Amino acid sequence: MRAIDTNDKIKTPPRIKEGNRRGEGNPDAPSLKANIKKCFFCKKDFDIVVEGFRMPRVNRYSHIACYEANFNEDETFVDEIYQYLREEVNLNYDYAACERQRVSYIKNLGYTNEGILKTLKYWYGYKKEDPSKAGCRIGIVTHIYDEAQRFYKHMEQKQKEIKKTVAKQIETDEMEFFIKSPPPQQNRKRNQIDLNTIEGGVDD
Ligand SMILES: [Zn+2]
Repeated sequence: MRAIDTNDKIKTPPRIKEGNRRGEGNPDAPSLKANIKKCFFCKKDFDIVVEGFRMPRVNRYSHIACYEANFNEDETFVDEIYQYLREEVNLNYDYAACERQRVSYIKNLGYTNEGILKTLKYWYGYKKEDPSKAGCRIGIVTHIYDEAQRFYKHMEQKQKEIKKTVAKQIETDEMEFFIKSPPPQQNRKRNQIDLNTIEGGVDD
C-alpha cells in the first residue's frame, strides 16, 4: 500500500495528450492517486507518470517493459475492430463475448486482428449484410474469413493490374505528346511579364 498523498485533491495529474500513447518515466514526479493505473498485461497497479507507460489499447495503460514483451504490430488493429463495429456498423456489441471470440480465433484458428477487421469490413462494408443478425458478437468471422481473404487478394491483384495499365497508358500518352507536339518555342513575352510582376524579380 502506498501512503495517500495529501496533495492528491489539489494537484491535477499531468495530462496525457490525446493520441499520445506513450510516456517516459519521471522518477522525480510526485506520486498521485489519479496516475495509478492497472497494467493491461501484468494487472499490477503502477504510477504511469513516475514509471512511464504505453497504451496497448484505448484507455488501457501498461508498464513499458510489459508492453515491449507482449505487444506486436497486429495488436494495433484491436481498437480498430471495435471502432469499426461501433462507428460504421452501429453494432451494439457484447465486448466481453467478442473479446473471448477474438482471442480464441487468434489462438486456435491462426487468424490475425487485421484479418478479422478486414473480414468484418468485407461483410458489413462490402456485402452490406445486416448487423442485427450478429447477436452482438463477431461469430460470423469464422464463416467468411477465408472467403474475405480471397476477396482481398483478388482486389489487390486487380489493383496491381489497373496500376500497370494506367502506367502503360501514361507512357503511351507521353510518347504521343512528344511525337505530336511541335518543338517548344521561346516565349520571351512571358518572361518579361514574370520579371515585371513579381516583386524583387526572379532569376531565370
Ligand atoms: Zn505490467
